[in-house]
Amino acid sequence: MDDCLPVDCKALAEGLGIKVEGFDIEDDFQGMLSIEGDFKAILYNSCIREEGRINFTIAHELGHYSLHRDRKELKCSLDDLENMGNLQPHSKNIEREANVFASYLLMPGQDVRQQIKDNAIDIALMKRLSGRYQTSVTATACRVAYLANQPIAIIVVSYDGRVKWSWRNQLFAEIFIERGVKPEGLYLTDQDSQEPVLSKVWLPSEKLYLWELTQSMMLMPTYGQALIVLGGQRVY
Ligand SMILES: [Zn+2]
Repeated sequence: MDDCLPVDCKALAEGLGIKVEGFDIEDDFQGMLSIEGDFKAILYNSCIREEGRINFTIAHELGHYSLHRDRKELKCSLDDLENMGNLQPHSKNIEREANVFASYLLMPGQDVRQQIKDNAIDIALMKRLSGRYQTSVTATACRVAYLANQPIAIIVVSYDGRVKWSWRNQLFAEIFIERGVKPEGLYLTDQDSQEPVLSKVWLPSEKLYLWELTQSMMLMPTYGQALIVLGGQRVY
């Protein structure tokens, strides 16, 4: 498996006759798929700093090419690329569906399971795996949480402390983190490994004593947001 990773999406696209090109655009634009007669192109924003995010964007556009090419032209923003939601195939939302396609293509389940076995599930692991798969740390975190056999939630918080979106795996289904809330007692800081966090930051009072929580966090200054990996252990 090591020989096949990371999956080179640019080469894959070019093998399908799709031209892949980067453009410097200083805005929210991440990537687009354009089909005009025989001409097929994937354009991406070369201002994106992380190689992994570019590779994930190209894989996302390949997802649109495979699943939604009747649309002719699709432009995708940062919000579209982070629309992970429930990472199940056959979603009704085309952005989420393209993200699922990209996640499955770049991060094969069998390999991910092997990599996370016996490891603490924290930001340090997500960073290491995003290098292995050439994916964004955020997409990697969601894929790992989906495949992990312990309760994990992925939360993205903007720098003003408000939850932009969150996603938790089935083992953490009891936890509900509302979009737009500003959790009291949450401090934004780079913190690679999982550390205990006060349960009241993330849980309503009636559930405080049911769970022990740990969290690790990565600041993403380019996007004005922080990525949080929240682990849970049910104590009652
Ligand atoms: Zn898209």
